[in-house]
Amino acid sequence: MSTALILVDVQPTFCEGGELPVEGGNAVAAGVAAFLRAHRGDYDVLVTTQDHHVDPGDHFSDSPDFVDSWPAHGVAGTANAEIHPETAEALAAAGGADLTVLKGAHAAAYSGFDGTDQTGTPLAQALRERGVDTVDVCGIAESHCVKETVLDALREGLRTRLLVDLTVPVTAELGAAARAEMRAAGAEEIRTGLGLPR
Ligand SMILES: [Zn+2]
Repeated sequence: MSTALILVDVQPTFCEGGELPVEGGNAVAAGVAAFLRAHRGDYDVLVTTQDHHVDPGDHFSDSPDFVDSWPAHGVAGTANAEIHPETAEALAAAGGADLTVLKGAHAAAYSGFDGTDQTGTPLAQALRERGVDTVDVCGIAESHCVKETVLDALREGLRTRLLVDLTVPVTAELGAAARAEMRAAGAEEIRTGLGLPR
């Protein structure tokens, strides 16, 4: 069996300076880069996910409620929808991702498991085909896409570990609720020492 590292939505669109910024996003991108440099060899499969919206309907709004609707973000074809440059550099040095998962072209998609890889294969199937039984998950935002990815991984029967200092929530309150939900569902937690002081 094998272990995968899933980098969830480490994109400039979700970092300071982006369209839907999360405070601490750039620090997460830097921490993920440091983690890749130190630990790429610990993983059999490296996965990235990206919000990659073409026309996601009411996921976008000019008067967003920040619950179900949001300002436009992760727009396919824009630089801010690519992997964060700092993380991308470390990824390239590590030989690139094995699975490049895009999600949300025409509808909201929070979980990486809602996406498909570069061959059009759903993430769960792609992981099964590679014998993955354990996933480590990090990225942005802990309260939204990271949480949903963790919960789906657990539903898929995968041992799932959250890299707690390589993720950041939209707000501390939402982060605490997300952490409790992930724990209750069976997620384990790892502190890498390379990310945020959390
Ligand atoms: Zn989105």
